[in-house]
This record gives sequence, C-alpha cells and structure tokens, in this order.
Amino acid sequence: MSARRFFPNFLNLDATFNYHEEWRADDPERFNYEVATMGCRTRVFENRFGAKTSIGRGNLSFTTINIVALAIESMSEPTVEKRIEVFMLRLNDMCELVAKQLDQRYEFQKTALAKQFPLLMSCLWTGANKLNPNDRVDSVINQGTLGIGFIGLAEALIALTGKHHGESDESQKLGLKIIGFMKKKADEFSDRYHHNYSVLATPAEGLAGRFTRIDKKRYGIIPGVTDKDYYTNSNHVPVYYKCSIRHKAEVEAPYHDLTRGGHIFYVEIDGDATHNPETIMKVVDLMDELNMGYGSVNHNRNRCMDCGHEDAVEGEECCPSCGSTHIDRLQRITGYLVGTTERWNSGKLAELKDRVRHT
Ligand SMILES: [Zn+2]
Repeated sequence: MSARRFFPNFLNLDATFNYHEEWRADDPERFNYEVATMGCRTRVFENRFGAKTSIGRGNLSFTTINIVALAIESMSEPTVEKRIEVFMLRLNDMCELVAKQLDQRYEFQKTALAKQFPLLMSCLWTGANKLNPNDRVDSVINQGTLGIGFIGLAEALIALTGKHHGESDESQKLGLKIIGFMKKKADEFSDRYHHNYSVLATPAEGLAGRFTRIDKKRYGIIPGVTDKDYYTNSNHVPVYYKCSIRHKAEVEAPYHDLTRGGHIFYVEIDGDATHNPETIMKVVDLMDELNMGYGSVNHNRNRCMDCGHEDAVEGEECCPSCGSTHIDRLQRITGYLVGTTERWNSGKLAELKDRVRHT
C-alpha cells in the first residue's frame, strides 16, 4: 500500500488511516472508505459478537490504570527483578478490579432505552434499526468494547529500570511484556464476562496532568518520573526524547497490535508540511511497513486572521504581510489539529512545550 493511496489529497494532513489486513484481501476498495473517518480511540477492533469492524460501534466505556503509580510503589524493592515482579502482581490486581468495574458499569448502561440516543440508536449503531424506541439497548451494545487503558509507560519503565523504552532495548522488552500482559488479561476477561475487553492506549487529554499532580503530592519529585507536569501519552516515546522518525516508529509500532481498543502514533515535523508531501508520504509508508493502525503527522501552520496570509514560521508573532498580531497557530495537541491552545490543560501545554522535532 503506497502513501499515494492513503492520501488522495495531500493537503489534508489531518487525514488518518486505519485498516485491517482482511479488508485489503477481501475487498481492497473498501479500504478507501475507511480513510479519514474516525478518531484514534474509536478505531475498535475486538468483537466476539459480530463483525470485526470499526463501523457502527465503538468503545462503550474505558478506565485508565495509572501504571506509573504502580511502578513507583514497587521502587522500594531492592532489585530491578523484584521491582518488576511486584509491579506485575499489582498490575494483575488492578486489571481485575478495572474489569469488574467495567462489567458493573455495562450492566447499568445496557438498561438504557433506544430513544435516549436518538441519533446513535436510530441509524449509527450496528443492529440499532431493529430496536423500537422503548426497547432496551442490551441486545445491540455488546458489539462495543470495554477499554482497559494505561498512561505513562515511559515513566513507569523509568521507575522500574531507570530507562524508558526509547533509549533501552531492555526497557522496550519490559514495556512489551507489560502491555502484552494487559492484552492477555483483556482476553481472559472477555471469556469470563462475555464482553469485548480490549487494551486502550489512553490519549490522556485530561489525565496527563491530573495523575501527575496526584502522584507528585503522594510520592514527591522523582527524576524522570514525576518531575514534569504530565505523564507521557500511553506507549509513546517521551516527547522530549530526540530521535529519528524511524526509531520512534519501530519502538511504538508493536504496541499497536496489543492496544486494540485504540492508539495513535505521531511524529513532529519541521517546516511547512503543506509544501512537503514527500515527507508525509515517507511517514505514511513507514507506518504501513510497520503495521501501525493509526497515525498522524504534527506540524505548525500560521494563519493571519486579518489578511489570510499563511506560513509555517515557528513562533511567529506578527504577520509578515500586514503586520497584524492576530495570528491563528494550527498545531496538534492530541489527535486533533487545533488552532488555539487556550482550552488545553496545564499538563498538555507543558507537554507541548517539551516536544522535539523528529528527523
Ligand atoms: Zn496579515
């Protein structure tokens, strides 16, 4: 699959892609319809009760585990091996608790009536057309997934071993072991509770700052772990770590197969992306080569709100064309390109400040 097929319109840099091998084999044309249609965490995969598609269903609810806190609480153990052992036991207990909580929440969710969701349950959700307005939704919503999320794999690995997975092969092995374990638990829970549990690479728009604030208070400042105002997005290599696009992609790619409740890969690129389609195509081809499920390219774009002048000059304060200081800066905080950072919390803004470009 070449980048040219992914992006018929190269100016649409916010386009995202998601696919499954079977779709390509069965109906290659269908693949095109799956481009640029959904958010990173609605790209659900697991389904024991119908077609394995992202269309007509989604995550019903998800709960995120603070794996950094679990790792910090294991730091008092005398050796790395012991730390990991204790951490895995704690993680097991927490997964059990979360699965039970999601099941109980589902038991409540399923009692809702179709008419409470006039749009979703009229035509969007798979099977919803068979429901009458006063029918309960339980006959159709089990098609959805229940997400067990995690945040700050990088910080958890630093707490356990001293290094994150972008800088150490050993840490990467451990990272895959941790998330692989969560995937195994999710499969077990699916059998036990008869739902579609899946692991979710939590994007953490809000939690990125909140968990860190709580942990700072509880555990104090731990270098590399709680010394910033945010935890790293899910399984990502930390934003401050300078490395090539390829390295970042190779480290993060294997997690995509494990996090079937949703994930995202992104790279920060320099300069004016709208005049650099070759770079975009290379990144997309790399994502395809490494079997990543969802990806995006982050770039800056300034637009003068008075005269409409556009460019990609970093930190531009005033318009080179008319001198106006009314500049709208397009950038990506999470999965979305946004023009203003005013509404984002302090954790995500601190993360944005730390981001380095990938080469
Ligand atoms: Zn202007």
